[in-house]
Amino acid sequence: MGRALIYLALLAAGVSGIMWMARLGGLVEFAVGEIVVQLPFSAFLLFAAALFATLHLGLAGLGALRRWPERARQRREAEHRLLGDAALTRALVALAAGTPDLARIEVARARRHLGDTAQTLMLAAEAERLAGREEAAAAAFHLLAANPDSRFLGLRGLLRQAIQRGDWPTAQRLAREAEAAQPGAAWLKQERETLALRMRDWREALALAPAGAQQAPLALAAAMQEADADRASELERLAFQTDPAFTPAALAHARRLREAGSARRARQVLEDAWKARPHPDLAALYLEGEADPLARVRAAEQLVHGQPKHAESRLLVGRLATAAALTGRARQELEMLAGSGEADRRAFLALSDLEEFEGRDTPESRAAQSRWLRRAAEAAPEPGWRCGQCGAEHGGWAPACPACDTAGMIAWGRGGSAPTQS
Ligand SMILES: [Zn+2]
Repeated sequence: MGRALIYLALLAAGVSGIMWMARLGGLVEFAVGEIVVQLPFSAFLLFAAALFATLHLGLAGLGALRRWPERARQRREAEHRLLGDAALTRALVALAAGTPDLARIEVARARRHLGDTAQTLMLAAEAERLAGREEAAAAAFHLLAANPDSRFLGLRGLLRQAIQRGDWPTAQRLAREAEAAQPGAAWLKQERETLALRMRDWREALALAPAGAQQAPLALAAAMQEADADRASELERLAFQTDPAFTPAALAHARRLREAGSARRARQVLEDAWKARPHPDLAALYLEGEADPLARVRAAEQLVHGQPKHAESRLLVGRLATAAALTGRARQELEMLAGSGEADRRAFLALSDLEEFEGRDTPESRAAQSRWLRRAAEAAPEPGWRCGQCGAEHGGWAPACPACDTAGMIAWGRGGSAPTQS
C-alpha cells in the first residue's frame, strides 16, 4: 500500500513535470552533417525515457537468457533429489518389511537419481544381502571402501561377509584395515576379539580382553603358543597372578619355577592356588617325587593348611593317611567328608578302601565295604575337565576343545552339572 502511494506520487510528479515542460516550450536541435533535426523539448524527454526503458528491458532479457541453462540444471537436480529421496525411503521400508526384491528395485531407482552416495551404496549392499546375493553386496561394499569418507562402512560390510563364510585370515586383515580407518571403534574391538579366538591368536585375544579373571586362560594359552621360554614364563606368571583359582595356570607357573630350581617358590604357588581353589592336580604336582607315605601325609597337610575343611582337602589327606596306615586320621577325615554332603564317588571309594585295609578279610569288613560301594554308586561322579559346548571329557585343560573346536569352554566340573571353573 505504502509503495503504491509512492509510485502514484512519482507518476504524478513525472506527468506534471512533462506538462510543465510542454508549457515551457523550447527545442532540442541535432545537427548531423547537413541535416538538422529539431524536436520539442518534451518530445525529446519522452523519446529519451522510451530509449532508456527499451535498453534496460533488453539487457535484463539477455541476462535471464544467459542464466537459463543453470536454472534448468538446478531445477532438474532438485527434481532428482526429491525422487531419489522418495525412492530411498521406500527402499528402507522394503528392507524393514523383509522384501528384498522390492528393496533392490527402489535402491536402483535411488541410485539412478542420486548417484553412488554412501547412503545409496549402503542400502544397495543391505538389499543384495537380504536377497542372498553376497557378490553383488560385496561389490557395493568395495565401492564404499574406495571412498575415504565411507571407507569404514565398506570394510565393516566386507568383514562381516568374511566372518560369515568363515574366511578368518581375510577377516583379520579387514579388521586391521578397519581399525586403521576408524581407530578405537568399540564394535571393532569385540569383532577382533572374536576373530583372535577363532584364529587361536591367544596373544591378540589377551591384548583385547578386558582386565580381570578372564585374562588368565588367555595368558596361559598364549604361553603355550610362545616359543621364547622367558616370555612364556612371564605369561604363565601373569595368568597365575590374574586368577590364582585357575588351576592350569598355577600348575604351569609352579612347574616352570621348579625347573628353574626354585622348589620352595613352586610349593608356595601351589599352596596359594589350593587356598584359592583346591584341585587334585595341584596335589599331584606338590607330592611329585615324594615316595615315603608318611612324608606324603605331612606334605599334603602343609598343602591344604589354607583350606583344611574343604572336601578336596579332606579327601586328599584321608587317602594319603590310609596309604600311610594312619587309619584313625584317615577315618576322621573321610567320615567328616561323607557326612558333609559334599562328598562325591571318590570319598565313598576311599572309605571302602579304608575298610578293606583296616578290617582285612572279615565278614564285618566286607559288609562295611559293600555299604560304602553302594553309596559310591549313588553318589555324584567325580569332577573332570569337560567342554561346556559339546560335553566331551578331556584329560586336562586346553584353550580350545579338541572335540568341537570351541575356544574357552573347557572347565573343571561334574558331568551333568554346570561347570564351576573356566
Ligand atoms: Zn567341545
